[in-house]
Amino acid sequence: MHLPSKVTICEVGLRDGLQNEARILQTSEKLELANGLIAAGFKVIEIGSFMSPKAVPQMADTDKLFSLLHQIDGVELRALIANKKGIERAINCKCRKVKLNVSASRRHNLANLNRTPEESVAGFGEIVSLAVQHGIEVSGSISMPFGSPWEGNIPLESVQAIVEAYLEVGITEISLSDASGMAVPNKVYSVCSSMKESYPQVKWWLHFHNTRGMAMANILAAMQAGITRFDSSFGGLGGCPFVPGATGNVSSEDLVHMMDEMGIRTGIDIVRLIELARKVRHMVGHDTDSYILKAGRSKDLIRK
Ligand code: ZN
Repeated sequence: MHLPSKVTICEVGLRDGLQNEARILQTSEKLELANGLIAAGFKVIEIGSFMSPKAVPQMADTDKLFSLLHQIDGVELRALIANKKGIERAINCKCRKVKLNVSASRRHNLANLNRTPEESVAGFGEIVSLAVQHGIEVSGSISMPFGSPWEGNIPLESVQAIVEAYLEVGITEISLSDASGMAVPNKVYSVCSSMKESYPQVKWWLHFHNTRGMAMANILAAMQAGITRFDSSFGGLGGCPFVPGATGNVSSEDLVHMMDEMGIRTGIDIVRLIELARKVRHMVGHDTDSYILKAGRSKDLIRK
């Protein structure tokens, strides 16, 4: 097997996880979680999003959270944005890293925004130049590149066209996001191999939801293709607005546990992470989709 010696994991639970929760956490609780993640060793954390508070009330305090968090060298705190208003909010609260998103589904994008995915990305140019002026880094994500609920299969050429549109506006860090949980390992392997070969200048991220139990298999396939950056969520929190009954992101503790057992370094302290995931489960007030929270670590079974 071609496996990396180390990987980077971005914790997205504060954004992708909490935005799907009925209970809106207090800013102090989020702050406790963010600081806990930093203490556990995460170097990349998605703190929240600058969306309309009416549309996503769970993320309304993202600005406040950024101004309360101490920015630490070597720890990247990022937020999701959708438009110019988002970058203005990022500037005001000293957020230094933002992520834009577009759907790989043409039908989805045309129905919602009346433009193609490439036209959406081309429209990000103004946001990027505003960000650059203020020293803010911008990355991009492409949702549903491995399959969409609208058209099923997404041709590779469609994904390439979006990547090229991102490169055109100066974005070279791109996440492929299987928000609908339709990715399968052989497709992940072929898409990732082809993307890495065609666009070696891109810093790739993969974002898997465990909607149909395939997230770990997909991550393994992506590592085989040379990808070393993955998003995950504490407790496995998350969902997808387009997929009724969808379970969440792949759980961070499950992912770190697998990497630990395989001898792949993450820089994350699994014991602290498990404690934090328990705290999250308590805060949201329900059980979550995390194997490790249920079964514990393999190591803990070994009799001394
Ligand atoms: Zn997601």
